[in-house]
Amino acid sequence: MSAIDLVRLSKVYPGGVTALDGVELAIADGEFFALLGPSGCGKTTLLRTIAGLEEATGGAVLIGGDDVTALPPGRRDVAMVFQDYALFPHMTVTDNIAYPLRIRQVGGAERRAKAAGTAGELGLDALLERRPAQLSGGQQQRVALARAMACHPRAFLLDEPLSNLDARMRLEARTFLKRLQRELRITCVFVTHDQAEALALADRVAGMEDGRVRQVGTPAEVFRRPANTFVASFIGSTPMNLLEGEVREGGRVAVGPAEVPGGPGAGALAPGDPVVYGVRPEYLTYAGEPTGGAFSGEVTVVENLGSAQLVTLDGESGSIQVVVDEDTEVAPGTAAWAVPRPDRVLLYRDGALVP
Ligand code: ATP
Repeated sequence: MSAIDLVRLSKVYPGGVTALDGVELAIADGEFFALLGPSGCGKTTLLRTIAGLEEATGGAVLIGGDDVTALPPGRRDVAMVFQDYALFPHMTVTDNIAYPLRIRQVGGAERRAKAAGTAGELGLDALLERRPAQLSGGQQQRVALARAMACHPRAFLLDEPLSNLDARMRLEARTFLKRLQRELRITCVFVTHDQAEALALADRVAGMEDGRVRQVGTPAEVFRRPANTFVASFIGSTPMNLLEGEVREGGRVAVGPAEVPGGPGAGALAPGDPVVYGVRPEYLTYAGEPTGGAFSGEVTVVENLGSAQLVTLDGESGSIQVVVDEDTEVAPGTAAWAVPRPDRVLLYRDGALVP
């Protein structure tokens, strides 16, 4: 079993920066778990504290139910893959992969056989005698993964594993990583600031802010129902529209001069309550003619997304983005309306989702 439990985990760096502030997480055995959040929120510190590369200031790290908080990295039985892969430039692929086995004093022949076996699983057979400088970014990443796998660790810790690859390689490597994790059924914690990557790869995602976990959920949960405006503002390939409004009679919300449907949350609130009105650009319907229950404004920006367009309307309700299909003609400078899909509207009160 290799579940990872973090209990009120804190880390204050010398100098007084609180990088982790009482983190509670229960990562299941075999789970692919992503830590997501803006730069400086504590993702890398959390990963390094699980690995034992940073000492916790408070709380505990449990791996497979064992308290490893006081153990050095080498005795935690987890493998970390770094952003820059940290391969030894003077060693061949085989020697890089076999390195952790050498540290564990596995004999030469057995070491090479095991390294070749792992390399085979990752499609590296043809590259065994090359050095890192003679490999592509994607191949280097596989060597780093193979090195991590060679000792059969209880968990993989991956720090931005795809960030050094170009856009196309990234997609390939993403699919590869997901397949590998499924086959190995190994617990995997990975750090990314790329929310699309987190949603695509992970079984569950934790959104972090200022050393705290703000929401844990499946990709569908955090996308559909972000628990707070912080998570709402950075999950989704186009950010959610978040607009200040006030609840009106009949479950509607006033946002500037617009009166729009308040969605499921409105029933729990009273007329006059201030709210933040949340609706994703995908859940607004564009109209070129005046229509009721809609935001209105002037089209100021049209961005081509390939199979759709992202249109920005500026009006008295604020600046609102709408995803519009590729066949609809949208001209900057014209008046337009955006109708929210009522069942997808989210209301936030004091930053928290109204259930
Ligand atoms: P990024 O996405 O930019 O890598 P992150 O979410 O991984 O950021 P961390 O690297 O964990 O964030 O840093 C969390 C906080 O701790 C930041 O404020 C950072 O400046 C601080 N920090 C990190 N390492 C140290 C250190 N060795 N000494 C002091 N402060 C540190």
